[in-house]
Amino acid sequence: MRFTPNMTPYLNGFPPESLQISSIDTIPEPPLNENYPFNKELQQVLYGKQILLENLLNPLNEIHQHFENGYISYRKGITKTKVKTVCARCGNKERSLFASFPCARCGEKECTYCRKCIMMGRVSECTPLFSWCGPEPVHERKEHPLVWAGTLSPGQQVASDQVKQAVIENKELLVWAVCGAGKTEVLFEGINAALAFGKRVCIATPRTDVVLELGPRLKAVFPGIQVAVLYGGSEDRHTQAPLTIATTHQLLRFYKAFDTVILDEVDAFPYTADESLQYAVRQSRKETSSMIYLTATPSQNWQNECHSGKRNFVTIPARYHRHPLPVPSFKWCGNWENSLKKDKLPSAVSQWIKKRLDNQKQCLLFFPKIDKMEKVLTILRKTYPKIQAVHAEDPDRKDKVQMMRNKEIPMLLTTTILERGVTFPNIDVAVLGAEDRIFTESALVQIAGRVGRSAQFPSGDITFFHYGKTGSMVKAQKQIIKMNTEAKKKGLIDY
Ligand SMILES: [Zn+2]
Ligand SMILES: [Zn+2]
Repeated sequence: MRFTPNMTPYLNGFPPESLQISSIDTIPEPPLNENYPFNKELQQVLYGKQILLENLLNPLNEIHQHFENGYISYRKGITKTKVKTVCARCGNKERSLFASFPCARCGEKECTYCRKCIMMGRVSECTPLFSWCGPEPVHERKEHPLVWAGTLSPGQQVASDQVKQAVIENKELLVWAVCGAGKTEVLFEGINAALAFGKRVCIATPRTDVVLELGPRLKAVFPGIQVAVLYGGSEDRHTQAPLTIATTHQLLRFYKAFDTVILDEVDAFPYTADESLQYAVRQSRKETSSMIYLTATPSQNWQNECHSGKRNFVTIPARYHRHPLPVPSFKWCGNWENSLKKDKLPSAVSQWIKKRLDNQKQCLLFFPKIDKMEKVLTILRKTYPKIQAVHAEDPDRKDKVQMMRNKEIPMLLTTTILERGVTFPNIDVAVLGAEDRIFTESALVQIAGRVGRSAQFPSGDITFFHYGKTGSMVKAQKQIIKMNTEAKKKGLIDY
């Protein structure tokens, strides 16, 4: 596609004066013609989105008429200056993630495109991103869409009130809730207020399994509201639902769409590691909007911002069952990798395991590496043949977790894959090789957070076996003790 200087688009038969969209200095923004009979289907498809021509079914002349009447905006997919190239869809700026090819769409021998987001269709120098800039689609408003009979703990109530206020006042807020505090319920009132105002809300999370779990829960408490559930491979793609639940990846399709974005597990992989996901979250927000972050384990940087007053935050320092968080203890176990080479477990570790299994207490043992875990599995199975191990690429991962829930296996060995998201009612947890770099402060707090979650079994043992204490271990322990102290002070725990 090329444009003439007066912005007439051509798909072929390019006039000599025509340009790729990237080469146009300033793209005009024609004023809104209120008398133009715009296409409501186009409005539905494009509102709050950034879409490529190939994903639109309408003929180009119809789209362009909407542009001329101020209903559709064109943006450069790629902006190129002498010093840098940027992809407007995913925010990619890295030189190595751009390539050039002889492009049939614009007829240039070298048309630069973004490799980073190519799985969503190619964005190149000749690619406009289409968005809706006309009026917002009207959707039905409900005065009080929330249908929920549950009650909040006092700690949850404080956070819930602040979430609601941030939503109404379009502010940013971090909800720092300990593992097992019940953070989803804390969002209900805020979402309810947003929907009652006719706002569009998105809950985004880096992890697909969280999307799959939240979808039915939110549909149940907002029964009269259309909820879009978006993840790689889902079908809901184009719906303009008042409430959207999506992986952070899916937000790359949105542009200035939401009045409220709630980001769950801000600290989880891949969000922290992939700048384009952070870019996607920023792009998906309207200029005036609220942003709620949820986490049990904010980064050191965020913790510092909280304590120096730079970041608006609220803590939920206690679990709803009013018992303190189990505090990890440290046990030195010598050069455990050397012991494994001799087919032995360090005696502190084997005693810990024996004590649990003899008493039929289920336990989880975390490892920094798969090969070490497999080695320990072989050793342990000589005595306890029912023990299983899981890791990220394990095809039977879900079945094994289910077997653990059903108490069909006494003990599960795992990599950090189970550090968050899973709940077993009555387990003890240990880490072997807690000194490894993979066990960051936040990973260790999450792992400790697996213990004592249910009201029926609110306590349990968490032990970090190590060959040299690390800063992360100490910080994780301190963070947990601090939350317990705060909870005690606020009267949120009884024991
Ligand atoms: Zn890109
Ligand atoms: Zn091209």
